Amino acid sequence: MAVRRWFAAAPVTGVIFALLVPQPAAAGSRTVYFLKNSHVVAPGKYRIGRRQVKCGSARTVIAPRFPDYGGALPGMIILNPGKLRRISLTVRRFVYAHECGHQIVGRDETAADRYAIQRGRRMGWLNRRGVKQICRELFRGEKGDRQHPPGAVRCRAIANAYNDARPVPEGRRARNFNVETGGYR
Ligand SMILES: [Zn+2]
Repeated sequence: MAVRRWFAAAPVTGVIFALLVPQPAAAGSRTVYFLKNSHVVAPGKYRIGRRQVKCGSARTVIAPRFPDYGGALPGMIILNPGKLRRISLTVRRFVYAHECGHQIVGRDETAADRYAIQRGRRMGWLNRRGVKQICRELFRGEKGDRQHPPGAVRCRAIANAYNDARPVPEGRRARNFNVETGGYR
């Protein structure tokens, strides 16, 4: 996907950063299609499992027609509920955190992966087994494209990101999984 106007885009005309699937350069009308039948959840109100998740002031857009697990636009995390149901809870948290990462790092897919992994370890919802789950459930067999490195490369990078992150001591962990910007970044 050619990403031109990350910070200036109006929601329905912007170009989406998807987790795995590339988007065409002229994504305006397709974006509208992807967001058809979607609904918006206020910041901090979306739940993964029983925990509420938050990404600063970003809203969560539940979009059943979105072609990937998740995507991001400025101020918006897009999730496909049907696809998310097929992956485990930890991997869903990773998808959300990856899309949250785009709110901070912009278009860089590797940086968004790294952000999500390190935040997961620091906040206590991700362990080594979870890193392997992400690799197996999302990345295995993915060839990659201009924006996304091949699955095997992403798997190695998230393992390294996990090793580089220091967990926050138990007592200081937030009660809810919280990927709000700032703090541990
Ligand atoms: Zn992404």
